[in-house]
Amino acid sequence: MAISRVKGTRDFSPEDMKKRRYVEGVMRSVFESYGYEEILTPTFEYLELFLKKSGEEVLKHAYIFKDKSGKDLILRPEVTTPVIRFYVSNLRNRPHPLRLYYITNCFRYEEPQAGRYREFWQAGVEIIGTNSPEAMAELIIMADDVLKRLNIKHYEIRIGNVEVLKNLLSDVDDRIRSKILRHIDKGEIEKLKEYDINYEKILSIITFSGGRNELEEIAGKDMLLLMDYLDDAGVRYKVDFSIVRGLDYYSGIVFEIHNNKLGAQKQICGGGVYSLGELFGFDIKACGFAFGLDRVILSAERENVLPEVSERRFMLFLFDKKYYKKALEILRIVRKYYKCEMEIMRKKIKKSLEYANSKGIDFFIIVGEEIEKGYITIKDLKRNVQEEVPIENFEEYIKNL
Ligand code: AMP
Repeated sequence: MAISRVKGTRDFSPEDMKKRRYVEGVMRSVFESYGYEEILTPTFEYLELFLKKSGEEVLKHAYIFKDKSGKDLILRPEVTTPVIRFYVSNLRNRPHPLRLYYITNCFRYEEPQAGRYREFWQAGVEIIGTNSPEAMAELIIMADDVLKRLNIKHYEIRIGNVEVLKNLLSDVDDRIRSKILRHIDKGEIEKLKEYDINYEKILSIITFSGGRNELEEIAGKDMLLLMDYLDDAGVRYKVDFSIVRGLDYYSGIVFEIHNNKLGAQKQICGGGVYSLGELFGFDIKACGFAFGLDRVILSAERENVLPEVSERRFMLFLFDKKYYKKALEILRIVRKYYKCEMEIMRKKIKKSLEYANSKGIDFFIIVGEEIEKGYITIKDLKRNVQEEVPIENFEEYIKNL
């Protein structure tokens, strides 16, 4: 019996990888254009790192295990906490603010469904050194920029402020407060009635739809300032105080981006102001977000906005091994400009051409005895024409194809 793939994981075909690398490439180039620099942290960490600040929900779904020496380890369920660990140990002396980004895999033992996996990818950014409205504006404008560059249309940015609800629940025990926030995050409003809290007040906040003055009263000046910046930037958003995020370390303005066409797993991005410094005995001002890369790719696929990458593909066929050196020279030239594979199956030319055609190869280069007279044969498989090109013009010729 075949050994199957682990539930909630995926294999990615060459076609899948092209799409993934394209979307990643757009994110990378936008992040870098805003001055963010790439980092990477380990796939697993000491469990201790995630125990205090990530919250029960994250730990409930974490892959936790012991290594051979009995140490408790965890596969990273998210990357923000490790980034702050890295910052505290190695990056603190750099000029602030630090602008960092990562694109890597995370692991959560959740029930798999469309858009929800046990191994998934996050493309995230962190600003360390400030959590000002200017920083939050930069993050949201940048996330919006990524989606616009990908030509994704069906998304909605929702901005909230966990501080408001955390303040209202300041008398409540930490664990209970986390539970209440989790209900709000999941839209389980009825469940709130089971707790000894000011239900009406909380309901009025999470269903808030008032104007600027009331907003200032509830959420303070920073929120209004952020909204002004976003208005100036032409970024569309909605204020929604039920956005509280699933992770316990968020402490101020937060946001999520939803793609309502994705069904249950519609959240494609989440972030905000967080406080993780206490873990290390520091006061670190920071904010950030993470795109769920898989869900952004799903969005782009659903909207059919992934570009067809049509690149010219070449294949070289060698008639006789005595021209192998010549063939390598030619390959070196072609590969400066295009992708070129070489026949290695000892096929006859007819069979090799059949293979090339079935793979959609555009140009078939033949290195045969005409090379002795200084000629290379190139067959244009799409147009079904063939030409003999003098070796000294070869590079010019293929460049202009
Ligand atoms: P979080 O770290 O929970 O704020 O998640 C950030 C983003 O990662 C979310 O907006 C999702 O798009 C994505 N994400 C979280 N969990 C999963 C999962 N199990 N499968 C796929 N994407 C996920």
